[in-house]
Amino acid sequence: MLTQRTKVRRNPSRGRHDRPTIDAILDEALIAHVAWVHEGRPAVIPTLIARDGDDVLIHGSSASRTIRGLQHGLEACVEVTLVDGLVLARSAFHHSINYRSVVLYGTLRDVPDKERALEIFTEKLIPGRWEHVRWPTPQELKGTAALALRIEEGSAKIRTGPPADDEEDYALDTWAGVVPLTVRPLTPQPDPRLRPDIELPVHVRDLTL
Ligand SMILES: Cc1cc2nc3c(=O)[nH]c(=O)nc-3n(C[C@H](O)[C@H](O)[C@H](O)COP(=O)(O)OP(=O)(O)OC[C@H]3O[C@@H](n4cnc5c(N)ncnc54)[C@H](O)[C@@H]3O)c2cc1C
Repeated sequence: MLTQRTKVRRNPSRGRHDRPTIDAILDEALIAHVAWVHEGRPAVIPTLIARDGDDVLIHGSSASRTIRGLQHGLEACVEVTLVDGLVLARSAFHHSINYRSVVLYGTLRDVPDKERALEIFTEKLIPGRWEHVRWPTPQELKGTAALALRIEEGSAKIRTGPPADDEEDYALDTWAGVVPLTVRPLTPQPDPRLRPDIELPVHVRDLTL
């Protein structure tokens, strides 16, 4: 994982290159940003992400510019961030954010088993969902592309803990500390067109526990 490119130079003590740390962040993150050079210019797109062993998967319409661009073996950079808290320092300068992020570099390749990729995405979003939904038709699979990036060159960076103020500022009257932030499921809202005889299934209810 550690290469010249992935060596964390700014605040290096926050850098990690071990797979358990990187995998845990990838597994918790729903959204990634994929960056690449499109027709000579920088491009970045937010997208869902799922890990499949040593690969991260992205998917989308076979017709999308992102998918078509990346299918041609271009180098890409994939980034995910989990935001854990607002760090309120005594000085404006030392305000920060607690986070866990991952940056991966590599070349995306085609995933031939698109149905399995869709199952991995579905199960990542809502564990237990796949067995309750209609599975993709050949036509739907034809219109879908799935791409994989091997997790082999990358880094994690993690900031935790309270603000780091300048020593003389600890005497100031300003409140300082951390406001934790999290993303969590709230009460499910049934589709207005849901058949009235369908109850909230356990796998959806469990999300909010
Ligand atoms: C939510 C969030 C908010 C941030 N806000 C700011 C901000 O406002 N200002 C600011 O200067 N920085 C901010 N950072 C940190 C920022 O991501 C960079 O780490 C930092 O700016 C140093 O950039 P650099 O190019 O000099 O890093 P370098 O240390 O030179 O980067 C070298 C290599 O280290 C790795 N690396 C660097 N940063 C990260 C990262 N965040 N996650 C995983 N790998 C990484 C990459 O592999 C990269 O190629 C923020 C990070 C997060 C996650």
